[in-house]
Amino acid sequence: MPIAIIGAGLAGLSAARQLREAGVASVIFEKSRGLGGRMSTRRVDHLQFDHGAQYFTAKGARFRALVADWQTQGAAAPWGEASFVGAPAMTSPARALGEGHHILTECQVSALQRGPDGWRIETAAGPVGVEGNGHFDGVFLAIPAPQAQALLATCALNLPGIETVQYGPCIALMLAFDAPINLTADRMKLEDPVIRWIARDSSKPGRPQGHTTLVVHAGPEWSRAHLEETPVSLADVLLTQFQNVTGNRAVPIYKSAHRWRYALVEQAVGTSCLFDAAAGIGACGDWCLGPRVEAAFDSGEALANAFLASRST
Ligand SMILES: Cc1cc2nc3c(=O)[nH]c(=O)nc-3n(C[C@H](O)[C@H](O)[C@H](O)COP(=O)(O)OP(=O)(O)OC[C@H]3O[C@@H](n4cnc5c(N)ncnc54)[C@H](O)[C@@H]3O)c2cc1C
Repeated sequence: MPIAIIGAGLAGLSAARQLREAGVASVIFEKSRGLGGRMSTRRVDHLQFDHGAQYFTAKGARFRALVADWQTQGAAAPWGEASFVGAPAMTSPARALGEGHHILTECQVSALQRGPDGWRIETAAGPVGVEGNGHFDGVFLAIPAPQAQALLATCALNLPGIETVQYGPCIALMLAFDAPINLTADRMKLEDPVIRWIARDSSKPGRPQGHTTLVVHAGPEWSRAHLEETPVSLADVLLTQFQNVTGNRAVPIYKSAHRWRYALVEQAVGTSCLFDAAAGIGACGDWCLGPRVEAAFDSGEALANAFLASRST
């Protein structure tokens, strides 16, 4: 029977890749239309924005090798010193990783059931009947910790430690201009009480040319205080603050705000994954090791390895 992996972000895709290397099949369930989770790209007509993860670093040998593969395939490229971006979009590495895997998109898992024949997965549309007659040998939760806890509750299980995880939210502002915009750098970390980060998205390799696109991130304190406000009003407030901070008064041809509730892990579990070998269920994600793409990758691999080790004893 295959393994059910919930979530097609970097952690879930990395777990699936590691299982496949060991000859174990998986089915990935993803609630969105596309892959990559918070390594995301918003497309609006001819405009494109990386409104989640801005770039990634590669410190460990295995992730470095994978990033080198992505570069060879044209799915990633350097942006600045010792950092990379997906190319031509931040979702490109996830698409490359997902190739050849069995992935069900627009498929939100709502409940898990464990029975004598293995695990069954329920979605908003009802139980899923896929290969293995809808039964799975194990379940990997590759989703943010609060969402993983909610799914664990549906089968009366817990993975101790998961409740300690804390996230900071982030409100992202996307701006497009039909003329160049004067900024002191293509990426700027700010000490401002509202704005934490400004990136000239159109300076990233492989991006559509013809417009200047910017992504502006509010800091976690400000984002937390304003998370329930409407995206329309948040876009107006953040644009005003962007103008005050940078002195740019140009009128954007596009502006939009996105609210990330679980953006950056503030408190991680501190272990590479959580796994209940007896039940055959585990969880992985950046929340295990820290708020980075590479941490999500490492955690997915670690969970697959823990599962494989449990089956070989
Ligand atoms: C604004 C922002 C800026 C960031 N900047 C950086 C940066 O510069 N550098 C860096 O390294 N990292 C950055 N990060 C963090 C980085 O994006 C994450 O660490 C990493 O992408 C997490 O991967 P993941 O697989 O653990 O989780 P996710 O990417 O969140 O993937 C989880 C997936 O599960 C899916 N899902 C959730 N619930 C269900 C369900 N019930 N059923 C089916 N599918 C479900 C989601 O749709 C999603 O695709 C940033 C994140 C944000 C939001």
